[in-house]
Amino acid sequence: MVTSVTPVRLPEEILPDADHTLDDMSPVRRGLGILGGTFDPPHIGHIAAAKAVFDALMLERVVLMVANEPWQKVGIRPLSAPDDRLAMTRAAVMGIDGLETSDIEIRRGGPTYTIDSLEELRSSNPDTDLYLILGADAATGLDSWHRSSELAGLATLVIVERDGETRAEASSDWSIERVTMPRVDVSSTELRALAARGVSLTPFVPAPVIDEIDSRGLYGLVDS
Ligand code: ATP
Ligand code: MG
Repeated sequence: MVTSVTPVRLPEEILPDADHTLDDMSPVRRGLGILGGTFDPPHIGHIAAAKAVFDALMLERVVLMVANEPWQKVGIRPLSAPDDRLAMTRAAVMGIDGLETSDIEIRRGGPTYTIDSLEELRSSNPDTDLYLILGADAATGLDSWHRSSELAGLATLVIVERDGETRAEASSDWSIERVTMPRVDVSSTELRALAARGVSLTPFVPAPVIDEIDSRGLYGLVDS
């Protein structure tokens, strides 16, 4: 006599490969954000903008790219040396997850044009999407930039809008992302003016930047 026995299946056998990957998986970060600037000095507005974009667009990292000779500012006002601005910017991002600095514009030397930097980054990171980050004030003048019509083919434009700010428009050639951030009403120009009057830059500038300013004797400021 043949008896057929239906085996009892244990839950593990029914679902032998219970999928735990979702539990282990952290969200995938992609893309390189680029926040160009003079950073003379870098301040909490720059950091807040870079961090807001890093978080909102889930980028892999955001680099603060220090201009060698910002063509809009050269001859208009004295500029701190590129190496001093780079050291301050490195100090500003120290210990902040996702933020880095880039010295490619300083190493290239001469007048700084964003198009050259994007082309360089595109060829050294061929598989990475580039995101050019600009505050709304800077985005407004974008059409006047060197070879501006070619810029749009190289990166997505990220316009950082501070609460209450007028919406900045850009040419329709651009693919645009908008990120809002709380208003941090500070500029390097205001900070240099404060320093010249002997006023401490704390808390508008991170403490490690104050140390760089002190040790390099910048802005005539001795912060105690
Ligand atoms: P300066 O007063 O010398 O013009 P800055 O503080 O405006 O200096 P920049 O180097 O001109 O700094 O700016 C670099 C980038 O950072 C620009 O895209 C600008 O829009 C953005 N940015 C500057 N200040 C702030 C801020 N307070 N909040 C958000 N973004 C800012
Ligand atoms: Mg500015």
